[in-house]
Parts: sequence; C-alpha cells; structure tokens
Amino acid sequence: MADPRVPGEGVDPGRIDLPCGETVHVRDVDLGMRELRCDCGGTHAVVLDPHPLSRFVPEDVADVLRETIETEDDFPEFTTAHLMGVVIEEFPEEVAVADVAEDGSVGYAMAWVTDFDARRLHEVVVELLVELMDHAVSHADETTAAEFERQMLEFDVEAFVDAYRRERDFDSEFDAPV
Ligand SMILES: [Zn+2]
Repeated sequence: MADPRVPGEGVDPGRIDLPCGETVHVRDVDLGMRELRCDCGGTHAVVLDPHPLSRFVPEDVADVLRETIETEDDFPEFTTAHLMGVVIEEFPEEVAVADVAEDGSVGYAMAWVTDFDARRLHEVVVELLVELMDHAVSHADETTAAEFERQMLEFDVEAFVDAYRRERDFDSEFDAPV
C-alpha cells in the first residue's frame, strides 16, 4: 500500500498563489464558478478545463478553431486548456495555474485564475483567438485571407463580448461570473 501523503509536505497542488499575492484553494473553486471575489479587493476570472470553448465564442467558431489550429501536444484538437496556454504566453505574470489531475475530488484537472476579471479575460481571449485565426488563414489562399482580414477590420471585440455575455445569460446559476 502506498504511503498516504503527509499534509504539509512539499507543495500542495491545490493551492493557487494568485498574481495579487493572495492564495485560494481548489476546494473553494467549483465548476459553476467563472469569477471569484478576492481578499485583495479585486475580482479574478476563473477557468476550469471542463469549461467549453463556447464559454467565449459561439459553437461554430469553436468548430473552426478545432479544425484549423494544430496542437503540439497529445490532444488531437484545440481545447480550453490550449486556449489558456495562449493566454499564459501573452500574460505570463497574470495567470495562476493549478494542476489537480491527481485529485479526483474536485471534478476538474486544471484551474486557471487570472489577475483580471472574467469580462476582461473574455476580451483578451477573443483578441487572441482572432490573432490565431488570422495566422491560420494566412496559410490559406489569398482570397480567403483577404476576406478574413476585411471582416476582422470591422470586428469589434468589445461589442462582441458584450453581446455574447448578454446572450449567454450569465445570470444563470451555472454560467454566472458569480
Ligand atoms: Zn486578488
């Protein structure tokens, strides 16, 4: 029989040291959570790996992402975890991560908490996805690439995020920026 883990030994994988200096624990983060109010006075976005890409973009856009973006790991298609990897690349100091894959009790394997709130994260995500797609279509033929760029010039990230958050009814119990 394996030795039970001694509490206090090593680093607790469920402990998340936030960029603001505060600490939260995965025990306090559940699947319905999109945002947490922090002791620092701020509000931080929470993302968990079971959250679908459609939290941020419509399902048809998520389909395009899954079809066009090549992943560099064992996952065959683009997931929320890849998306958060992109966010971390862009904002390494502003995202805290917990890998709790070993902990069967919390219902998810990865948790990300950002320094900014859920609304700002949503904007950041959409901006990064637009860049990713722009990169992907630049490998497509010229007409497709030109058409995409024309559309993107007219694309208003803030307006999109406003509309999307309204539409997805973020007041509902399970989809709320609590
Ligand atoms: Zn904080």
